[in-house]
Amino acid sequence: MTAGDVFASEAFQKCADFHGHICPGLVIGFQASKCALEWLQANRAEDEEIIAIVETDACCADAIQVLTGCTFGKGNFFYKDYGKNVFTFASRESGKGVRIAMKPDALDLDKRHQELMDKLRAGTASEAERREFEKCHLQRSNDIMNLDPHKLFDVKSVKVSMPSMARVEPSQPCFRCGEPTMGTKLKQIDGDLICGGCLENF
Ligand SMILES: [Zn+2]
Ligand SMILES: [Zn+2]
Repeated sequence: MTAGDVFASEAFQKCADFHGHICPGLVIGFQASKCALEWLQANRAEDEEIIAIVETDACCADAIQVLTGCTFGKGNFFYKDYGKNVFTFASRESGKGVRIAMKPDALDLDKRHQELMDKLRAGTASEAERREFEKCHLQRSNDIMNLDPHKLFDVKSVKVSMPSMARVEPSQPCFRCGEPTMGTKLKQIDGDLICGGCLENF
């Protein structure tokens, strides 16, 4: 399958629809999910619940959610703010899983792509530069899709200690704003229960 075929596939289209655009990060998440699903198919019992621990909040996290079914809202997707392209999948019951980590030298730095991205961010890119960036961005997405995922990632079996289950608890109103808030998330300040939002805007 060429990168073009994959881009046209239903699985990738779902990712692009959910994420809103095609970009190198989304493709990295797509490729990591392929490794994950491969490992899971070979190593998991059908009825085991799988959780994901994702160490970045970049574009790739969206493809992971669409393809693996581990989603933020379901409580089987855990985010760690480490800024790394590392994705761990494990069985909730046994803790046995797989760690998929981007290799340090997996991708060459594309200087021009980076330069154009900086200009765009700074708002100083001309119309021609913006078009050039889009071309570069798509080309890079294409190049990453053409790589064997095992060239991109180190994949190894791991044993994970489980993050705690998402709990749904009854809400209580915040003393200050009155908005219903999960009881365990309220903080007691001078005897009143205050929500995180009100605390931050103290
Ligand atoms: Zn993106
Ligand atoms: Zn409040």
